[in-house]
Amino acid sequence: MEKDKNGKLKIGIYELTGCAGDALLILDCEKELVSIFKAANIQSFLMAKSDNIDGELDVALVEGSVTTEKEKEELLDIRKRAKVVVGIGTCACFGGIQAVFLDKKEWEKNFKKVYGDIKMKHVKPVQSKPINAYIEVDYYLPGCPIGKEQFLSTFNRIIRGNPPELYGFPVCVECKWNENDCLLNKDIPCLGPVTRAGCGSICINHNLPCVGCWGPVEDANLTSEFKLLREKGFDYDFIKKKMATFSGTGMADFLGKLEGEKK
Ligand code: SF4
Ligand code: SF4
Repeated sequence: MEKDKNGKLKIGIYELTGCAGDALLILDCEKELVSIFKAANIQSFLMAKSDNIDGELDVALVEGSVTTEKEKEELLDIRKRAKVVVGIGTCACFGGIQAVFLDKKEWEKNFKKVYGDIKMKHVKPVQSKPINAYIEVDYYLPGCPIGKEQFLSTFNRIIRGNPPELYGFPVCVECKWNENDCLLNKDIPCLGPVTRAGCGSICINHNLPCVGCWGPVEDANLTSEFKLLREKGFDYDFIKKKMATFSGTGMADFLGKLEGEKK
């Protein structure tokens, strides 16, 4: 990547559909914020500055999923301008909560339930999809929202031309580090075994099960998690909803194959 005349990379931070939690998390790096702006030429960051530029970029960080035709165009434009695109947050990586309706018919039915037959003049909604449904994505930084430590480490690595390094193990590992009792042993449905670590198992530390908000970990044994929850008496629809709530498209193929397991 080429640096500008001041020796800095040109970076843009963008938000599509989501809660803007990842952009807020970046702003919440209060102590480090000045260093972030000093280390890179932040050309565009709507939540932080008003003099945004739509020029060529070395790196684009994109939060949120695509839920309108306009966002689709915006994303394609970002891809054209940026050498490297990083999806930040679970919505950008997997579609997020708004992608919970995995199939188009289900999405259309629910959309109609909310909006009826209204013809939208200014916004053309589309079924929510992660950004890799439309563009090639170089790196992913999941989390709902992303974690501060992982963001700072990723930012630091990217401005030095290195790929992000994420934890390649599930939440259960952090849960054990924190010496929690396993909730699955108490028949509480926990998605820790199939969810990427990084949050410090914060929910389980407070006696709440993991609902998978950091998205699936690589090589997650989804079949085993599914079977275990079935053995504990949870039905297909419950498990499907639970697994798809945050991980959306990350679980779609797996859940699609399990349609026969319905009862
Ligand atoms: S409580 Fe959840 S995250 Fe912790 S060990 Fe059990 S399954 Fe894993
Ligand atoms: S739902 Fe799971 S991944 Fe999300 S913060 Fe809680 S423990 Fe972490």
